[in-house]
Amino acid sequence: MSGLAELGIWNDRAIRGALSWYLAVAENRRPAKFRIATTVPVGLDLSTSSEDALWAELDRLTGIFLGRWQAIRDGAPLPPDAVGPSLLDLCRALAWRMLAHCNFCPWNCRVDRVRGGKLGACRLAAGSRVSSHFHHTGEELFYRGTEGSGTIFFTSCNMRCAFCQNGDISTDKDNGEEIDARTLAAMAWTLRREGCHNINWVGGEVVIHLHAIVDAIALLGRDFRPTKAELARARRTKADRFCWFDEAPAAALYDGRFNAPILWNSNFFITPEAMKILRVLTDVWLPDFKFGPGRCAMTLAKTPRYWETITHNIALIAAWGEDFTIRHLVMPNHVVCCTSPVLKWIAEQVPTAPVNVMAQFHPDNFCDPGSAKYRTQYAQIARRPTRRELEDSWRHARDLGLHFETASFERRSALAGPDWMDG
Ligand code: SF4
Repeated sequence: MSGLAELGIWNDRAIRGALSWYLAVAENRRPAKFRIATTVPVGLDLSTSSEDALWAELDRLTGIFLGRWQAIRDGAPLPPDAVGPSLLDLCRALAWRMLAHCNFCPWNCRVDRVRGGKLGACRLAAGSRVSSHFHHTGEELFYRGTEGSGTIFFTSCNMRCAFCQNGDISTDKDNGEEIDARTLAAMAWTLRREGCHNINWVGGEVVIHLHAIVDAIALLGRDFRPTKAELARARRTKADRFCWFDEAPAAALYDGRFNAPILWNSNFFITPEAMKILRVLTDVWLPDFKFGPGRCAMTLAKTPRYWETITHNIALIAAWGEDFTIRHLVMPNHVVCCTSPVLKWIAEQVPTAPVNVMAQFHPDNFCDPGSAKYRTQYAQIARRPTRRELEDSWRHARDLGLHFETASFERRSALAGPDWMDG
């Protein structure tokens, strides 16, 4: 075992309560959801059935899946894999049907990304690129643990945050290497066998790569073994390839088969259809919740219907009984319009959710006055948050009774320097 469960952070009852399924899968005491999905047989032909019929089948099988998930949570053994196509294959088929009239996210571009040609807001066709993948030691302690979070960074995004702290990959869709499903699966397989506590799919934004990710997970659910050539291809984007990690295959197995929690690390600008697919694949969700209900999502990220979409999706995963934590990045001059309503909504709608109220905003991308990309229209956020703005945010979270201190301050002593939060 990895020692993740031994960390003192699990003594926080809010963290333990919110992430109990994730921890059980990370420690291989339970199978990941994708393993459960492979046990549920499909009752129709995936290639000849209409898309409507596939969605109806997903609704039917999700009910069966949820019953099995609950039984397994209660200690039941994992049933045998389905003979023939399974719910996991159905998810894969639906993701590819969606790609042909893309509606992965609320831009609802309806472009045919399989054929290519006209592109949507994310500027992607069917190909996906990975910028890097590695043992991430910068995530929250319950995700990075002792061995790191197995993070895979995809390029491009469906939002246009002027301050993006990953602007090199979110604004450059051609960054990194184009990958196929087997190379992507090889990345996840390697990271988990090297001890990572989870597979952390992130970008840019991940939902715009839903088809590629479901393809890779479908392989992992079929006892995938990468070839030497695939491992070599995957290694090209492994940012920590010059570090040595002992392989511990047993740390990647449940009942002798590959196992890893799927962590969906996302801006949450996702359609209900994509959320339905993700429901049976995602073991733990990590949504960003950036902007309040006013115009800020438009002026800073050119994203319409932001508040409605993000609140709907977070309320959905809470209603589904999923494991999740929320991130909110405090932005300069946006405490009243963004931080306050975001924290208030969380307190009213999902009060038990652990929240990371983050201090690390820095002017980047189009907000960095030192960059040639700087645009003066973003002068209001071209600085770090002041101490006063951060303390006001944390005080507000405390007054609302939010569970934020463990996630927000576990690194505080390491971060605290003479000027880290002075504007
Ligand atoms: S993922 Fe979103 S932005 Fe990209 S084509 Fe599909 S609907 Fe448009």
